Order: sequence, then structure tokens, then C-alpha cells
Amino acid sequence: MRSLWIFLVIISATACAASEPDWSDVQKDLTALFRELLQTDTQNPPGNEIAACQALKAFFDREGISNRIYEVNDQRANLIARLHGNGSLRAILLAAHTDVVPVDENSWSAPPFSGDLKDGFIYGRGALDDKSMLAVNAMTLALLKRMKAPLRRDIIFLATADEEAGGRLGAGWMLERHRDKLDAAFALNEGGRIILRNGKPLYVAIQTEEKAAYNIKLTAYGSTSHASVPRLDNAISALAKALDRITRYPAVPVLDPVTTAFFKGLESVEPLVELKNCSIYTTEPLYLSMMTNTISPTLIQGGIKSNVHPPSAEVNLNCRLLPGQDVKAFVDSLSSWIAPGPYEFKYTARSSTPEASPQDGIGFILIEQVCSEMFPDTPILPYLSPGMSDGTRFRHEGIPTYGLLPFPLDENEVWRMHGKDERISVEALMMGMRLVYRLVELGGK
Ligand SMILES: [Zn+2]
Repeated sequence: MRSLWIFLVIISATACAASEPDWSDVQKDLTALFRELLQTDTQNPPGNEIAACQALKAFFDREGISNRIYEVNDQRANLIARLHGNGSLRAILLAAHTDVVPVDENSWSAPPFSGDLKDGFIYGRGALDDKSMLAVNAMTLALLKRMKAPLRRDIIFLATADEEAGGRLGAGWMLERHRDKLDAAFALNEGGRIILRNGKPLYVAIQTEEKAAYNIKLTAYGSTSHASVPRLDNAISALAKALDRITRYPAVPVLDPVTTAFFKGLESVEPLVELKNCSIYTTEPLYLSMMTNTISPTLIQGGIKSNVHPPSAEVNLNCRLLPGQDVKAFVDSLSSWIAPGPYEFKYTARSSTPEASPQDGIGFILIEQVCSEMFPDTPILPYLSPGMSDGTRFRHEGIPTYGLLPFPLDENEVWRMHGKDERISVEALMMGMRLVYRLVELGGK
């Protein structure tokens, strides 16, 4: 089945070679839209994604592409734009989110909502996550229309709110109310990566599944009294003991078919990974996080006054569980690992992780084809992302979803996501533009 698809795609690509867009014009329009989106402050909380939706609406109106803002309230909103094909094949969904994580402005070398261009890089919160993809997706629809590309599929553009806070008011809200408008053969979303090392592509990772994110609150309790007389049952000391123990939690590596294929394909190009006797050896944190349940303490709270023993102290553990793992079983095992004590865990259980999107699906095959044209001799691998995105919600709704941030990025650049001085080079932005355009042009016809 898979070879037949490849055959069909290649035939149709050769038979209808389309004329090339004027990429310098595209760069001008794309960077203008992208910088406008970066200049729109959509830090979540509070989000205010409606401002980004209005910028996108103005763009689609100018391009003559039908679109609609779906208001959740007067600040939060999502947007769908749609380019119509002849309807003989199911649609392609291009999804990206409009909200961004908050910034600590003082640590940045360029104002985070400026969209400043410095030394070939565009700076701003969301430059990688996810406004670059948002702009590229929007420009792809515009370009298909300008080029009068023949389409058998509708191309749906979706801008979601609230992804950085779990997506309840974004992808969740839209799928609950407007599932019919999002039906597609497959979705392209963030999540995968094209990694460069020493300026050369190292691998392309197409995300087909995601770990599940949980915020687990651990509270330690103690007696409250005057701090002038130290007590052994101090809540902060108890929490510190538990945290020390948690950092040494023995995570058991588990590989599934996706991670097995990923590491097998990676080993030939990645010296940081060794495959021996069916086991994988690596010390690289990203790779380790793909094989184990992880725990990161992220917020801590405790105490009411400097001279009072606090009644309790609390830490938020941001935990990422491998697909198919049960959160209750995980918390039970964590609880017995830290040993009995004045502790309480609180978390919200959710439905299980959806099935991985198939590697023989049309979306995967198209990405594989376009990436092998653009990055010859580079392994193209299925990928389990440690982070969670709207992709999990789309997969739950039966839409095969492939995650690929389509910009070739040096490993050091990737870490700027959610960090300081988030940026993208104009060169990488344009590579991503060409990739998504090629993918949709090829898959849509
Ligand atoms: Zn994101």
C-alpha cells in the first residue's frame, strides 16, 4: 500500500510540474506577516489571541481567502481559513497556535515583542513556537491561491488559542464545537524537528506521537508553631527530603515501535547514541526523555511568615509520561519511592494517550518525500516528542497528525524555545516556507 502511494505521488508530481513562485516576493510578504504576529503580545496567560486572529483575518481578507474568527470570549479566539479544492479528496489541515509562553523581558537582548531583525535573525517570543509555523501556514494558502494551484483537497488553516496552557479553549474548544470543519485526511502541526549539526542536516524527526503532560502537586505537611524553636516535622524540610529523593527516581527505559525505529535510524548519524545488544546507550537528555517517564520540579510554594513554621509546602512536578502509561500507577510508584511521610499527591487524571499516527499514512509519506528532496541522505525518522501539543487532541479525534516544525535548526537554537532570545533566521524561515508549500502543493493536487 505504501509503495503504491509513493508511486502515485511521484507520478502526479512529475506529470504536473507547476511553475515556481517568486520566492523573494514571498519572503517580503511572509516576514511582514510573521513580524506582525510577533509584535502581537499573546502571552498566555492571559492569551489575548483575538489580536493575532484579527491580524490573520486581515491577511486572509486581503488575499481573498474565506476565513472566520471563532470567539470564545472577547479576548480568546480561534480562526479557520479554507482554500477550496474540487472536493474529490479529503482535506489537509495546517495547524499552529497563536499563544506564547510568558517572557522575562530583562533577560532578552532584543525586545521580545519587537520582531526585530538582527544579523539575519528575527527575534521574538513565538519566533520558533509557534508563530513562524503560523505565518508559513497562512502564506502557504495565499501562495496556492496566487499560483492558482490545482487542488483536489481543501486546505484548512487553523490558528488555535491556549495551546501553552493545555488547549482547552483552543483546539479542544474547536474540536468540541466545529469538528466537521476540521475533518482532514491528515494534519500538519508543530512537534517534530529538522536538526542541523555543524551546519548540515543531521536528521528529520516526524512526530507521530507525544508524551502526556501532567502537573502533579506534591504537598508536605508539618506542625505550625514559633520558628524560634526548631521542629523536626518542618514542612519545608520534609518537602526538601522528598525532592532530593525524587531527583534519584529510577526511571525505567521503555521503547515502543516509534522510538525503536527512531533510535535505529539515528544511530548511523548520531555519535551520542549507541545501540548494543538491543539496548540504547546515551546520556543526551532529549533522547533519555524519549525513553522514560520524566519529572521536573517547576514551581515551589511554602511558608506564611519568616518566623512561623509553615503548615505546608508544595511543589509542582511537571511530569511527562510515555504513551500508554497510567498516571495513577506512576504516582503510586513515586509515592512509595519517597517513602512514607507527611505527603500528599494531587493530580487530574485524563483519558489515555491516543494511538500513534501511522507511518504508512499519506501525511507521513508526503513529508518523507519532500524532506528527502530537500535534505538528501538525511535519515527521516518517526518521532515521539517529549512535549505535548494540540496534536494529541487531533489524534484523539481520529485525525492522523504529523508534527514537524519545518525549519532546519541548529540544536542550540532549538533550546531558545520557551527560553530567552527566541529567534529564527530568515534563511530557516524560508526553508520552512518552501517545505510546507511543496508539501501541500504536492499533496493537494
Ligand atoms: Zn508550541
